[in-house]
Amino acid sequence: MGNLLRDRRTPAKLAAIGQVIEIAEELGDLEQLTEIVRSDLETLDPDKLPRNWRKSPVVGQLSFGFADAQDGLPMVEGQVGVTIHAVCQRCLGVVKMPLEAELRLLLGGDTADAADDDRYEIWELDEDTVRPLDLVEEALIMAIPLTVLHVDDAVCKQPAAIAEAAKETTHPFAMLKSQMEQED
Ligand SMILES: [Zn+2]
Repeated sequence: MGNLLRDRRTPAKLAAIGQVIEIAEELGDLEQLTEIVRSDLETLDPDKLPRNWRKSPVVGQLSFGFADAQDGLPMVEGQVGVTIHAVCQRCLGVVKMPLEAELRLLLGGDTADAADDDRYEIWELDEDTVRPLDLVEEALIMAIPLTVLHVDDAVCKQPAAIAEAAKETTHPFAMLKSQMEQED
């Protein structure tokens, strides 16, 4: 038995046997996505680079079947998720960003019939066969937001740094004030 995610098989075969694949990989197994994350993290100082960022688990499930009653339209449904590290475009600190993707894809077949079936997107097959890991990787890459920012302003280091500086300037005065009050 080969590797269900990596072996190329025809969509019709995967659909006919109702193949279900549990995804339990690491980010580093997805070469294109790893390259995208790596080039983003490259701007960080080496000592700020998160350890083991390539080890983030990629988990989910794929289920193959047919979208039509005539078994002419192989499809895959499923979901996949991974938490990647990215660089916040406001404070240039590291953001842990969950990527989640739902897959509902038609895999070849007579897609003209299915063009108005908006339950599915059409996956253009380059060959007669498909590598399930490619579907997973593409879905995750599409899930990357255009802009990466800390969601929580309190975590974003730039506002935090300003707040920290503010604390440092007010703190000594507050201490002095409380000392004077005790001496009274
Ligand atoms: Zn930030």
